[in-house]
Amino acid sequence: MAQMAGQEWFDELFSRINIEEIIGEVVPLTRKGQRLWACCPFHSEKTPSFSVDPTTGLYYCFGCHKGGNALTFLKDYEHIDGREALEELAKRARMELPKMAPRTPQDDKDAALKEEIFKANVAAARFYHDTLWTDEGASALKYLYSRGLKDSDIKHFGLGCAPSSGKALYEKLKSEGFSDEALVKGWLCGEKDGRFYDMFRDRVMFPIINSRDKVVGFGGRVMGKGEPKYLNTSDTPVFSKRNGVYGLNFAKGVGRLDALVLVEGYMDTVMLLKQGIRGVVATLGTALTQEQIRLMKRFVKKVVISYDGDAAGQKAALRALDMFEPSGMDVSVIDYPEGKDPDEYIKAYGREAWEKLPRYKPAKYRMIRAEDGLDITTQDGLTEYTIRCCGILKGVTNAVEYENYLRELSLKTGYSREVLARQAGMAPSQQTEPVPRPRPQPAETLPTELEKAQMQLFALASGGKIPEGVIRREDFDDELLASVYEEERAGLTLSDIIQTLDEGQIERVMRSLNSLPGELTTEDALKLANELLETIRKQRVSDRINELTGRLATASGNEKDRITRELNDLLLRL
Ligand SMILES: [Zn+2]
Repeated sequence: MAQMAGQEWFDELFSRINIEEIIGEVVPLTRKGQRLWACCPFHSEKTPSFSVDPTTGLYYCFGCHKGGNALTFLKDYEHIDGREALEELAKRARMELPKMAPRTPQDDKDAALKEEIFKANVAAARFYHDTLWTDEGASALKYLYSRGLKDSDIKHFGLGCAPSSGKALYEKLKSEGFSDEALVKGWLCGEKDGRFYDMFRDRVMFPIINSRDKVVGFGGRVMGKGEPKYLNTSDTPVFSKRNGVYGLNFAKGVGRLDALVLVEGYMDTVMLLKQGIRGVVATLGTALTQEQIRLMKRFVKKVVISYDGDAAGQKAALRALDMFEPSGMDVSVIDYPEGKDPDEYIKAYGREAWEKLPRYKPAKYRMIRAEDGLDITTQDGLTEYTIRCCGILKGVTNAVEYENYLRELSLKTGYSREVLARQAGMAPSQQTEPVPRPRPQPAETLPTELEKAQMQLFALASGGKIPEGVIRREDFDDELLASVYEEERAGLTLSDIIQTLDEGQIERVMRSLNSLPGELTTEDALKLANELLETIRKQRVSDRINELTGRLATASGNEKDRITRELNDLLLRL
């Protein structure tokens, strides 16, 4: 981008924008001599240590050492990527962005359709909201009041109601000039035998707004018994359910946000936000996805899972923990007592009690759940429980934490800590001096043969020259490359996907994309892909052989026979 835009263009841009104005919009600045001062929007403080120098166009915080120019400020504060920040700056400077690549007529058509869908979504949100205050919306309004929402809350969250007639929205939006294509592709309306109908009927409506304040879709909740309880906008040119997180627009711009609180549905999100709890978000009807986790990671490093306290919520929390842990985020769980959901709990005991609820670390929460369905007053129950907990402790990498859990478990079960330690797979002699076991860090080493082959394969897949079916998800060991590959195959563009990644991930994707020797013809690309697939297959076999050879040294009896058989088998496949 930088090279293409040219230094002159950047110079012109920065000469036109006023950093004082950009930062002044989000924190009040006070002038002292040359410089302007404020309480830092990136960390929590009472006396100002955040300073802006209008003459150089730079800012710096003496508290948290964040600094940069208008571009980095927008990126960090608005949680947007470099490209979006640049667009924003160019808009302010009334300059046209240099074109990245020549646009085709199809690109222009796609862009126009997207733009129309965004506009239709805004018009639909307004229509649903207006309907709430008419006779048609009476029962929806009653429902919202019954949950304890006030008019001001309803306005703040832009809530609405889809009328039951089944074509009121279609008629309204047509009268405003929207095309059938935009309404159908935007999942606002459907079409059957040439007749159009509304997708959402007789539901309370929650507009889904992304972190850039665009209405990307809707969630609809039935008021009474009907099915499905929740209905969400399906995938459209402007919305992907796998990427969607409800409530992010309210979390954005909250510079000092410490953690996101993840709840199960829109109603929980609204109720907790209304109580003054910040950074509450929900996934949209689907199970938590890696894409959503990456998106959240762009905002915070910490997540508190706050699912319902019933059995289904607890199961979902365990699954969410499994999803979050590899992301390296600091994740914990609130275990609501008496099977309550977050809203019920806060209504019954208040915000302060909520703040005091323990946030359990993953292993601790798993150990709590390990007791589910067991009667530990019986010997069988106690044994099963102990074995389950020791299994959980195997995954604890922090030695101090490990030791604490071990002692706790020993107290609870009556087994000595040595017995428990042995069961959990750590020799007691290693225990005397608790040294933190190093977490496997992705070292900055050169990629292995296998990684290199997979990076190149990824670049080929992304280049669009390989026929469908040649490359599969399983060909990638790297979860990041695998998921980006899948998203691209599902029709997302790389520039859309990049927006959900953090800096490190973007860097890895870029490095992979640049790993090819140069421009390839379709024929050469396919040839290379097949060679790489063969390399990957062989490399995997030889890795497995190495692993098994290592294990053979200590194996005996049946185990030894089994390994030998597998080894013979593998050697034939090399
Ligand atoms: Zn700071």
